Amino acid sequence: MNAPLPLAKEPGGDCAPVLKERGQREVFCGLTGIIWLHRKMQDAFFLVVGSRTCAHLMQSAAGVMIFAEPRFATAIMEERDLAGLADANDELDRIVEQLLARRPDIKTLFLVGSCPSEVIKLDLAKAAQRLGGKHAPQVRVLNYSGSGIETTFTQGEDACLASLVPEMPALPEDAPANLLIVGSLPDIVEDQFLRLFDQLGIANVGSLPERAVSQLPGIGNNTRYLLAQPFLGDTAQALEGRGAQRIEALFPFGVEGTTDWLQAAAEAFGIDSAHVASILSPFQERARKAIAHQRERLEGRSIFFMPDSQLEVPLARFLANELGMVLTEVGTPYLHHNHLARELAAMPAGVQLSEGQDVDKQLDRVRETKPDLTVCGLGLANPLETEGLPTKWAIELVFSPIHGFDQAGDLAELFARPLRRRDVLRV
Ligand code: SF4
Repeated sequence: MNAPLPLAKEPGGDCAPVLKERGQREVFCGLTGIIWLHRKMQDAFFLVVGSRTCAHLMQSAAGVMIFAEPRFATAIMEERDLAGLADANDELDRIVEQLLARRPDIKTLFLVGSCPSEVIKLDLAKAAQRLGGKHAPQVRVLNYSGSGIETTFTQGEDACLASLVPEMPALPEDAPANLLIVGSLPDIVEDQFLRLFDQLGIANVGSLPERAVSQLPGIGNNTRYLLAQPFLGDTAQALEGRGAQRIEALFPFGVEGTTDWLQAAAEAFGIDSAHVASILSPFQERARKAIAHQRERLEGRSIFFMPDSQLEVPLARFLANELGMVLTEVGTPYLHHNHLARELAAMPAGVQLSEGQDVDKQLDRVRETKPDLTVCGLGLANPLETEGLPTKWAIELVFSPIHGFDQAGDLAELFARPLRRRDVLRV
């Protein structure tokens, strides 16, 4: 088993004071989440109520994934709508009618708000209620905001999952304890975790979201949940509002994080620790070997995280503790002190954390410190590369399967690859 984590330490106590940044931001909006959410929820459809810009974002972010029958679309608001000359609600009702008539496979329809729909104050909550009443019980209609006005791109998933929580069936008071894995994971990763929980002896495990959103798991006072992603603050709050209790753990990245995540769940369900150790040991061994392969390339190299996906803190912990990377600065759009308490305690001493964004100042610090690798958004990567500073796209980390033991080597490889490319180019 891993050595116990230094949890006696005040969370983040050894880190330098957090730098609070408030300035120009350079991140994608919450609509981006639809790209991975629509793949996960196979009976859902995402209808963005937005402008041509929103439609272009969706098309370019979806890239090559153009299906014959995609599970997302944009209801484009024209100038007449924006000028308040047309009744956007009538238009929306008409589009939804057409969509549902053509696609009887849709069981849940998400109306996704955007900057333009928010600017003209189109009330999508009311629209969802109206349309939901009309199309129940065949179709459930929900709404959330993916607007870029106040969000960073992973908050789209948080808002989407939070909208599902009130729909989860209530479990009776005396229901046996159940476990929820919260956060959208690629099916292959989710299946690995479900097999592991089964081997550990935890029965009754569900996911939010499930692949079929029409079959949401139950929730009640005996529900315990594990966050699989660090950006689900609103979802966590909604789950707790319905009686569920969070299991405090590291996030399941690398051997250390995955071990802690699974052990914490096992402990919450009263599973014998010797049994847990014997089940996890071969997985840990295999993952350690896969990571060791990349350690030679990454050890001692410096890395700077620009605030982007909200995955920065757990990933930085993994890179520092298991790959020996030097953390120049770890920026994150929001520092959820509660959900990240264990991560902060496991960080190496003296790390500079920053919360929020002031992109010019942060770019100045990147140029000054010249890290071996900068993790940043797509818009910043090319300029930095042309200045000779290697980068890693933050969004790639959200699209790739990176959780769990079996993905630990691939996760390390994602950081090693740009450095290898740079080393080859230098020869
Ligand atoms: S929601 Fe806002 S930020 Fe996102 S694509 Fe539409 S207009 Fe742009």
